[in-house]
Amino acid sequence: MRILVTGGAGFIGSALIRHLIQDTGHSVLNLDKLTYAGNLESLAEVHSSDRYQFIQADIADRERVSEALLEFQPDAIMHLAAESHVDRSIDGPAEFIQTNIVGTYQLLEATRAYWQSLPAERREAFRFHHISTDEVYGDLHGVDDLFTETTPYAPSSPYSASKASSDHLVRAWQRTYGLPVLITNCSNNYGPYHFPEKLIPLVILNALDGKPLPVYGNGTQVRDWLFVEDHARALFKVVSEGQVGETYNIGGHNEQKNIDVVRGICALLEELAPQKPEGLERFEDLITFVKDRPGHDLRYAIDASKIERELGWVPQETFESGLRKTVQWYLNNLEWCRRVQDGSYQRERLGALENA
Ligand code: NAD
Repeated sequence: MRILVTGGAGFIGSALIRHLIQDTGHSVLNLDKLTYAGNLESLAEVHSSDRYQFIQADIADRERVSEALLEFQPDAIMHLAAESHVDRSIDGPAEFIQTNIVGTYQLLEATRAYWQSLPAERREAFRFHHISTDEVYGDLHGVDDLFTETTPYAPSSPYSASKASSDHLVRAWQRTYGLPVLITNCSNNYGPYHFPEKLIPLVILNALDGKPLPVYGNGTQVRDWLFVEDHARALFKVVSEGQVGETYNIGGHNEQKNIDVVRGICALLEELAPQKPEGLERFEDLITFVKDRPGHDLRYAIDASKIERELGWVPQETFESGLRKTVQWYLNNLEWCRRVQDGSYQRERLGALENA
């Protein structure tokens, strides 16, 4: 297959592309605008593969996307490009509306024109896979409730509302125009190459620097965590074996309170970090409770039984094993983190832009 991945320089997109290049024989075109969240250094392992290409483009630029489609001739599109950070969406929703809603609309229109121009056999086999979040469902208040594929949408933040809108657009393009789409809604991801503004890398890096470890409210919000490489495997399963028009929830059966995640990281650092910041007795002493985020969802938890039953996907990592791998990865890759934190990843882009 020739697969066009949007947002492939991001956290999940780069894990997906590493999986596609390293573990399958498929070819990939990574189409990414390279916002602050796009980092080509996360693709260093596959950068020189002759099955990998990169193009810097905005999904909202329909003309440029159309050209890329005609030139690359994909058999599938896996759409991950998005503004993805909830706190940023609260401070400045405009970019979220532009990329997640308008951008998805423009991408759908470019895709529809390309798909309609394909010969019948390729049109039949073509797939548009939209990658979304469980945050579209809002939050759960009952302790035992789980989000299923039929849970009504009730997004709380500008981020989740913009993703919900894009899910609706994708479904409408199937119902109205017959575009062969698939949608996945996944729980919180964690793992290597996660941008340091997100909870797990933020806590690891702040702890190593002896800085406060911020926990919203009282830290009792529950999230269902999935190791990013398990998500990448699930996405490939869905695009290659999923039923057109279906939605699949993806989750790791790893419900954790935020405060327990932070404490877990501290415990791992006690064991794995080569040293502690001067004068610090225990990493846990750095935990600092901060004012809760407005509209903060209390609990997310995914019922992933459909993808397990129908496509035979199961996560390989438990939260314990995945968190250990993640903490160890950050300890081994402090240079990658430093280059993100000081901005050099954006200034020197591995010379990859020349190959655009
Ligand atoms: P990310 O912020 O790490 O990466 C987003 C990527 O999209 C970046 O490389 C960025 O440069 C690119 N991008 C942004 N705007 C663009 C535009 N207009 N045109 C082209 N490229 C653009 O995000 P992520 O965490 O890797 O998430 C990827 C997708 O998965 C998103 O759609 C997100 O909603 C969804 N998702 C994320 C999680 C999670 O826990 N991170 C969970 C479920 C679903």
